[in-house]
Amino acid sequence: MQYLRVKAHRPKKSLGQNFLHDRRILEKIVHAASISKEDTVIEIGPGKGILTTELAKLAGHLIAIEKDRDLIRPLHATLSDFNNVELLNEDVLDYTMPKNRYKLVANIPYYITSPILTHFLHDAFTKNLTPPTVCILLVQKEVAQKICAAPPDMNVLALNIQTFGKPKIISYVSRNAFSPKPNVDSAIIRIDVFKKPAVDCDLAHYFELIHAGFSQKRKTLANSLKKLGGVTLLQQAGINPTCRAETLTISEWQSLALN
Ligand code: SAM
Repeated sequence: MQYLRVKAHRPKKSLGQNFLHDRRILEKIVHAASISKEDTVIEIGPGKGILTTELAKLAGHLIAIEKDRDLIRPLHATLSDFNNVELLNEDVLDYTMPKNRYKLVANIPYYITSPILTHFLHDAFTKNLTPPTVCILLVQKEVAQKICAAPPDMNVLALNIQTFGKPKIISYVSRNAFSPKPNVDSAIIRIDVFKKPAVDCDLAHYFELIHAGFSQKRKTLANSLKKLGGVTLLQQAGINPTCRAETLTISEWQSLALN
C-alpha cells in the first residue's frame, strides 16, 4: 500500500515567512485596495496563498511573485481554480513592472521593506518604469509610523515615500494575526501614488542633499551640507542654517535642490 506523503512547509525566517491567518485582517487589506475586474494586481510573496486567493477572486489579472521555490507547487494547487493568476518564482527586487498601471497589494517580507518600496516607487519613477497606482501593504508598525512622519520628525524613508505618494495608516495589526508569531506588531498602510513626483527638480541631486542632510545625527544642516553648499546654499534657499534635517518639508528640500 502506498501512502501519499505531504511534506509540511517549514516557515523560513530568512525569507520573512510569517503567514497571515486572521481573516478579519485579510478583509481589511482587500477592502482598502477596492479591487475590481478592471484591475491588474501585483502581490509580493503569496506564501501559502491566503491573500492571493482573495485577490484572484476580485482582480482581472493577478501577478504573484514568490521567491521560495518550495511554495510554488502548493501555490499552483491552491490557485488551480483561477485562470487569471500568473505565478512567478523570482525575487521581487529583480522584477520588471508591467507597462500598464497596477495595484500593489501584499503582506511583504519585512526584511526588505525599504528595498521593495524603493524598487516600486523611486526606481519606477526615475527609470521610466510603471509605478503602482496604489500600494496596500502590511509592514512593521514602527516602519509604518516612520513612513507617515511629518516635520519636525522627518526621516529619509518618509521622504523617499512621500516624494512619490501619500501614505496613510489604515489599521494596526497584532502580531497574533501571524504564524509563526513575529516579535513585532504590524500595520496596514495605503500609499496613493502620485502621477508625477511631488517635486520638480533633479531627483538625483534632491536625494543626494537628503542623504547628506541626514548623514550626521543631531548636526545642523550648515554642517551636514558643508560639501554641497553649506550656509550659502541654505541662505539662498531661505532656510535657517541652524535647522536640523528632520524639520525640513519636502518643498524646502526641493528649494535646496533648485539652488
Ligand atoms: N502573503 C503570505 C501571507 O500573507 O500569509 C505570506 C507573507 S510572508 C510575510 C512574506 C512572503 O514573501 C513569503 O512567502 C516569502 O517567501 C516571500 N518572499 C521573501 N522574500 C522575497 C523576495 N525577495 N521576493 C519575493 N518573495 C519573497
